[in-house]
Amino acid sequence: MIVGIDAGGTLIKVAYTNKGEIHFEKHPIAEIEQVADWVNGLGDSEVCVTGGRSGVLVSLLNQPAQEMVEFEATHLGVQVLLKEMGRLEDAYLVTNVGTGTSIHCIQDNVHERLGGTGVGGGTLIGLSHLLTGVTRYDEIVSLARQGSRERIDLKVKHIYEGKEPPISGELTASNFGQNLFAISKDLTKEELLATVIGLVGETVSTVSVQAARQCRSSTIVYIGSSFIDNPLLKEVVTSYTILRGSVPVFLDNGEFSGAMGAMSSL
Ligand code: ADP
Repeated sequence: MIVGIDAGGTLIKVAYTNKGEIHFEKHPIAEIEQVADWVNGLGDSEVCVTGGRSGVLVSLLNQPAQEMVEFEATHLGVQVLLKEMGRLEDAYLVTNVGTGTSIHCIQDNVHERLGGTGVGGGTLIGLSHLLTGVTRYDEIVSLARQGSRERIDLKVKHIYEGKEPPISGELTASNFGQNLFAISKDLTKEELLATVIGLVGETVSTVSVQAARQCRSSTIVYIGSSFIDNPLLKEVVTSYTILRGSVPVFLDNGEFSGAMGAMSSL
């Protein structure tokens, strides 16, 4: 068996081939020992590990494993997944919305990290929990889908009341920026969670579009587990990216880019 593992800050992503078929699995980082036990029980196999927690995982393995720098593994995995979707281009940006967010430019097979933001999937879970008490990721994203940001976010049109604004009135002037003191007690969990996702989505897309100016392409490939079962985040990121003149692409199985790259390197 050929196995690629991306051990990140929150989740461990695994890609492996069995009888020619590719399988994907993910586990919370707390299960790192179980993942190591699974690898140790495989017998004859080749393993490549990447991600911030790869050192911990390698220390738990009984057999030697290759290690790969995370950005290289991600880059390779994105290439493979783009090719599978028939969308391989010479130049594009990759925005990885993991626990945090990092942005890369890929041009003629050379990749460069352009920057990032600490606002990412970790913010999504952390802020959601602090505001509503909800702990589980799946519950956060499903409640958020039912909420509206209308009463919480301040839009440009709210500031330019009765006047034509110089930029689209639909843009957010201030996330969580409405006068909330009077209504803070009646806001629902759904509204608060939708607004957290709005904040994360608008931040990562705004930073990505600005980074695109340093890259030849305006195609932004969004990956990372923060998009798993999270149509609201995809929607916010899609509309903000298009509004700012770039082209968003979401990869099928994009959260497994690092694991896929590690596996493909073997
Ligand atoms: P990392 O490599 O840093 O672990 P990921 O790309 O795996 O990053 O993304 C982690 C983010 O994915 C979390 O912060 C959370 O927003 C989201 N996520 C998706 N599914 C889950 C899950 N089952 N449990 C926790 N977080 C999840």
